[in-house]
Amino acid sequence: MFHYTAGQVARIVEGELFGDSEVEIGSVSIDSRTPGQGTDVMFVAIPGSNHDGHTYVEELYTFQKVRVFLVSRISGISDKCPDATFIRVPDTLEALQQLASWHRRRFGFPVIGITGSNGKTIVKEWLNQLLSPEYRIVRSPKSYNSQVGVPLSVLQMSDEFQLGIFEAGISQPGEMLNLQAVILPTIGILTNIGLPHQENFDDLDEKITEKLKLFKSAEVLIYCKDHRFVDRIIADDVTLHSIRLITWGSDSASTVRIVDKHEIDGRLLVEVAYGEEQLRVEIPFTDQASFENAMHCLTLLLYFNIDRDDIAARISRLTPIAMRLEQKEGINGCVLINDSYNSDLGSLAIALDFLAQQKPFETRMLILSDIHQSGFSPELLYSKVAQLIEEKGINYLIGIGPQLTRFSHFFDLPKEFYADTEAFIRAFKRDRFGNAAILVKGSRDFQFERISALLEYKTHRTILEVNLNALIHNLNLYRSKLNRDVKVMAMVKAFSYGSGSFEIANVLQFHRVDYLGVAYTDEGVALREAGISLPIVVLNPSFGTYELMVEYRLEPEIFNFSGLSAFVDVLDRLGESAYPIHLKLDTGMHRLGFSSDQLNVLAGKLQVSRAVRVASIFSHLAASDEPRNDSFTREQLVRFREMSGSLVERIGYKPLLHILNTAGIERFPEAQLDMVRMGIGLYGISPSGLDGLQVVSSLKSTVIQLKELNSGETVGYSRRGVVKRPSRIAVIPVGYADGLNRRLGNGVGRFKLNGKLVPTIGNINMDTCMLDVTDVAVREGDEVVLFGENPSIEVLARAMDTIPYEVFTSISRRVRRIYYRE
Ligand SMILES: *Cc1c(COP(=O)(O)O)cnc(C)c1O
Repeated sequence: MFHYTAGQVARIVEGELFGDSEVEIGSVSIDSRTPGQGTDVMFVAIPGSNHDGHTYVEELYTFQKVRVFLVSRISGISDKCPDATFIRVPDTLEALQQLASWHRRRFGFPVIGITGSNGKTIVKEWLNQLLSPEYRIVRSPKSYNSQVGVPLSVLQMSDEFQLGIFEAGISQPGEMLNLQAVILPTIGILTNIGLPHQENFDDLDEKITEKLKLFKSAEVLIYCKDHRFVDRIIADDVTLHSIRLITWGSDSASTVRIVDKHEIDGRLLVEVAYGEEQLRVEIPFTDQASFENAMHCLTLLLYFNIDRDDIAARISRLTPIAMRLEQKEGINGCVLINDSYNSDLGSLAIALDFLAQQKPFETRMLILSDIHQSGFSPELLYSKVAQLIEEKGINYLIGIGPQLTRFSHFFDLPKEFYADTEAFIRAFKRDRFGNAAILVKGSRDFQFERISALLEYKTHRTILEVNLNALIHNLNLYRSKLNRDVKVMAMVKAFSYGSGSFEIANVLQFHRVDYLGVAYTDEGVALREAGISLPIVVLNPSFGTYELMVEYRLEPEIFNFSGLSAFVDVLDRLGESAYPIHLKLDTGMHRLGFSSDQLNVLAGKLQVSRAVRVASIFSHLAASDEPRNDSFTREQLVRFREMSGSLVERIGYKPLLHILNTAGIERFPEAQLDMVRMGIGLYGISPSGLDGLQVVSSLKSTVIQLKELNSGETVGYSRRGVVKRPSRIAVIPVGYADGLNRRLGNGVGRFKLNGKLVPTIGNINMDTCMLDVTDVAVREGDEVVLFGENPSIEVLARAMDTIPYEVFTSISRRVRRIYYRE
């Protein structure tokens, strides 16, 4: 177990200790937001690019009773936390790595270090599947492979384990040596070297050399000899000369040489020669990436000298690794979080944290299967599970499997148990599940997808998939362009640009944006009812909704005198004072807002009113994305400074000033002022071609029918789709009522099906459309991507002569949204 005193940690990281050196530390956390950290946690304040861990020390001290902090400054913090112990170091990230590196050196069991561009997590998870009969394994949770994730992973090491498997990922030159010192792998695996994260490396050569630094004191390195380029660099690398190289490949010099490889019935039969031996394995996948990942694993198993029959049997049973945690709408108002592919303590903890973020639900239910291959005795395992469930605030447990049933007395909460999935399904009653957040988490062989299917709210077969990691990535990308202390208002109006309402707001709140912006009062009310507590600005409040706004603590945009006086009347009647409002100035858009000749009167009214307080003053740019209008935009910026300046002077205090939208953030960094308002960029669209944004939403559907037509026949209404050759036509259940614009019919729109773009044929109908799929292999049930990576929403918008904003917001509410994270 991880167990140190504060005094020991201070010595290990060479820090200064303030407080009690004897206080005991049982775990380490860097995330200020994860509830249930326990009282023996040490919080490490990492100054991230977006928020600085030091900001949360007081909150953690007061509300979570955290008592030990590793920090780089204490002034202004320690006096507010009288009973806390502080360890001060110059650089907290470095100290965390130092601590992990020290911890690592206490253990003598083998440690496998994995790096490469692709496949790290899969190889790690597969090795865990393959080796767990022989070893109790400690490994990185999910894909914790960063400068922070690696030390946190390694700190899990303890005497209970016999083998460590950790992955290391880098994005910058120079980072790998830090990770090497923490992992100190005795065995290295270099997985596929592809192209991701290549922006910062001069060339592939430098990148590979950097990655190889992970292995500098390893005893063994496993890699694929067929990548000639990599093989040459390894041969030339003097730091690797004393390492035993174990390779696989078709190359005749490979240690594990591929003699034959062919595909039968969706499986790969591979025959290899290893020394004198010949061995046949069956890989239950046929794609190249899975093949390479499985070969890395096979080579390691041979090196570990696992029984040959066991090797073949286990490889043939490898299962896909789903790294997605899906969030879906459930029956009877439930939210369903689906992680039904694997189950272990690390991923259970992560999924439970995700569940804990679903604020609005009183009932947090966990449907859990037996956990296989944990490396712990069942008693220890399920007592750990029980502890985790209590810490993370679960208040209803459904346990499925003989082991859980056997240890049901460990769980001190409302609970029920079933011997297997079948028994649960037989007893299932729909109306027992209502208004709950439900996590479905099971080992693959329990087939929990059957349970999810019962709990899912079903609509038709078209879905909008929303990638929450991509949303966060985009938020952070724009944040990295902001000066220190510039606040962020995230625009979630119009159903978050079509991508969802509280789910998106919840993630943004979790990632600490400062304000949310909605268009109408009812959008704000819906967010409050879903448990969103951030300040919310309503851009288009109508008079009749002012009471409601106050009741729900929503803050109006005020853009004219009648709005101001009506709102003040309501506040007076309700006995409110200093209620936050946001003043909109018209600097050239000529839509809503006070003009410059109204400012005198406005200032006069504000000076005498105690009912309102101006929280911010803002304006909106008319053409921030268009270079040809840049001089106009600059005039708007100047006008805004003048107008807001004179108001501020008259009212005698300084509200937040803001004017930039997404395009403004990209193109006018000098005008960030106190806050920016981020809209379309969050959802993955850059108005000025900024690199590095990720696709957030993908609209997907499925082929529901195929038919063969002869030349001369026609497709659909008005017989517009004329078939000019013997053709195959696919029908998909998405039409203009779903938001698929009618202009995309008759070949204008092209959608992706089995890797190829295929054109529409005939008119788009209300609920369906037809595709000409003559040139692709296709079966009923195949997936069609209407927009996403390809075709991108920009391409589609252009085809229908509009802008991405309209495409996003046209996707109808009847299309189900599925949220996922990786
Ligand atoms: C919608 C909106 C934004 C966001 O604009 P994007 O171009 O999507 O970034 C900013 N400010 C106001 C007032 C808005 O209405």
